[in-house]
Amino acid sequence: MTETPAPKPPADALERFRRIVGPKGWSTDQDVMAPHLSDWRGAYHGAAAMLLKPRTTDEVRRIVKTANEFNIALVPQGGNTSLCGASVPGSSGNEVVVSLTRMRTIRDVDPLNYAITVDAGLTLQEVQDEAAKVGRLFPLSLGAEGTAEIGGAISTNAGGVNVLKYGNMRSLVLGVEAVLPNGDLFADLTGLRKDNTGYDLKQLLIGAEGTLGIITAATLALFPSLKANATALAAVPGPKAAVELLALAREASSDHVTSFEIMARPTLDLVFQHIPGCTDPLAKPYDWYALIELGSPRSHDLLRRRLEDILTTALDKNLVLDGALAANVAQANTLWRIRHGIPEAEKKAGTAIKHDISVPVSKMPAFMQATAGALEDFIPGVELNVFGHIGDGNLHYNVRRWPDITDEEFAEKRLEVSNLVYAKVQDFGGSISAEHGIGVLKKDVLASTKPVEILNAMRLIKSALDPKGIMNPGKVI
Ligand SMILES: Cc1cc2nc3c(=O)[nH]c(=O)nc-3n(C[C@H](O)[C@H](O)[C@H](O)COP(=O)(O)OP(=O)(O)OC[C@H]3O[C@@H](n4cnc5c(N)ncnc54)[C@H](O)[C@@H]3O)c2cc1C
Repeated sequence: MTETPAPKPPADALERFRRIVGPKGWSTDQDVMAPHLSDWRGAYHGAAAMLLKPRTTDEVRRIVKTANEFNIALVPQGGNTSLCGASVPGSSGNEVVVSLTRMRTIRDVDPLNYAITVDAGLTLQEVQDEAAKVGRLFPLSLGAEGTAEIGGAISTNAGGVNVLKYGNMRSLVLGVEAVLPNGDLFADLTGLRKDNTGYDLKQLLIGAEGTLGIITAATLALFPSLKANATALAAVPGPKAAVELLALAREASSDHVTSFEIMARPTLDLVFQHIPGCTDPLAKPYDWYALIELGSPRSHDLLRRRLEDILTTALDKNLVLDGALAANVAQANTLWRIRHGIPEAEKKAGTAIKHDISVPVSKMPAFMQATAGALEDFIPGVELNVFGHIGDGNLHYNVRRWPDITDEEFAEKRLEVSNLVYAKVQDFGGSISAEHGIGVLKKDVLASTKPVEILNAMRLIKSALDPKGIMNPGKVI
C-alpha cells in the first residue's frame, strides 16, 4: 500500500473521467470546486485536480476502475459536514473529489419490511421525509441533517440525538451497495435482518470514512412513526443528577426516552449570544441543563403528563431544580433550536479545542469532575463548552481559548490540553472519537491510543481492499 502522495493524474485519465460523467458531471473551475475543498469548520483546506459528480452507480464504478488503473487518489464526499477533516482532499492538488450529491434516487420504500432503499446522495432529512410519507420513522437525526447525506452518515457511522432509543447509523443499515477500490461492485441491498452467511463485510464500510470504497446506495431500517411526543428543558444540579434523572425517566416512561442531552451554562450563553431568536426559557440561570424528549408510536400515550410526573418526582429527589415543559410542537422546536444551535454558535464564537468523546454513562459524572479539575489545574479559570448526548455516554467536551495567550502559545498548549482530556478518557475506559470519526484531526491520537494489534489488523484490511491506497488517502490510518 502506497503512503506517498498520489501522482498527478495524466491528461488522458482526466479525459476519461469527463467522458464517464458527461458535461454536467465534472469541473476543474476553482470557484465551483471551492465549497468541496474546505471543511464545515473552515479548519482544513485542500486542492483537487478535478471534481466529479456521478449520477449512477455504473458511473462511480467506471470512475473507480479508471482511478485504480492510473493510480489516482479519490476523495468520496457527501454533504461535506465532517467535523474531523475527513471529507476534503489534501494539499497536493492531485486528488479527485467524487461528490455523491447528484445520486438521489429513492429506489424502494417497503413499509411492511420497515425498510427504505436510497441512493447515497439523499440527505438525512429527505430520507426522514420519505419515510414519514408512509407512516414510518427514519430516526437518525443531527444538526446537519439538511446537508449530511446517507453515504456520508454511513461512512462516519453518525450518531445524533436519537441514538439512545434507535442506535447509531450502524444499527440502521440493513444493506449497502458500494464500489470497492478495484472497481468491483459490492451489491448487498438485501433488506434482511438476519443473514449469517460468513463475514458481514458491509460492517467494514460503515465508519470507514471513505477509505475502503464509495457507498452508492443503502437499505435502511425504519420504525413506526412517533404519534406522541413530550419535550422539556430541565435545570439540573450537575452531571450526576442528570444521569440519575435519565435512569428515572427511562424507568418511569417505560423506556420511551428518545433523546437526553446535557448542556452547560456557558454553552447556552454562547447560543443566546450568537443565534438569533434563541432565548433562555427559564427565569434565572443554572449551571447545567438536560434536554429530554419522550416519544411513542401510540397517539393515546399521554407523554406530556408522564414527563410532567417525572419532573415532579425529580424535583422531590433534588435531581431537577427548575424546568420548562413544551406545551406544543412549536415550543418543543424552540427548545431544540437551542441544542441544535450550539455548533453554529461555537463556530461564530471562535477558536476552541474540541473533543468528541465517550465513556460509559455511569462513569460520566466522575469523568467530568476529574477532567474539569485537571484542566483547571493546568489553566486556572479555564472555560469549557460541554454539551452532548450524555444519554449515550457521549460529550462534546470543548475547551475555549483563554485570554492573554498568543497564537503560538495557544497552538502549543492545544496538544497538551487534548492529551490531558484523552488521558482522562482512557482512565475511564472511553473512546477518543464517539461519533465524528478520525479523519485527519485524530489520526495521531488514534495511533497513540489504539492497541497496536488492532491498528495492525486495520492496516491489513486497508491494504487487502485498497493495495494502491487510492481511497481517501491520508485519513484514519
Ligand atoms: C452542525 C453540525 C452538527 C453535527 N452533529 C452531529 C451529530 O450530532 N452526530 C454525528 O455523528 N455527527 C454530527 N455532525 C458531523 C457530520 O454531520 C456527520 O458526520 C455526517 O454523517 C457526515 O455526512 P456528510 O454527508 O456531510 O459526509 P462528508 O462530510 O461529506 O464525509 C464524511 C466522511 O465520509 C466519507 N464519505 C462521504 N460520502 C461517502 C460515500 N458515499 N461513500 C464513501 N465515503 C463517503 C468522506 O470521505 C468522509 O470521510 C455534525 C456536523 C455539523 C456541521
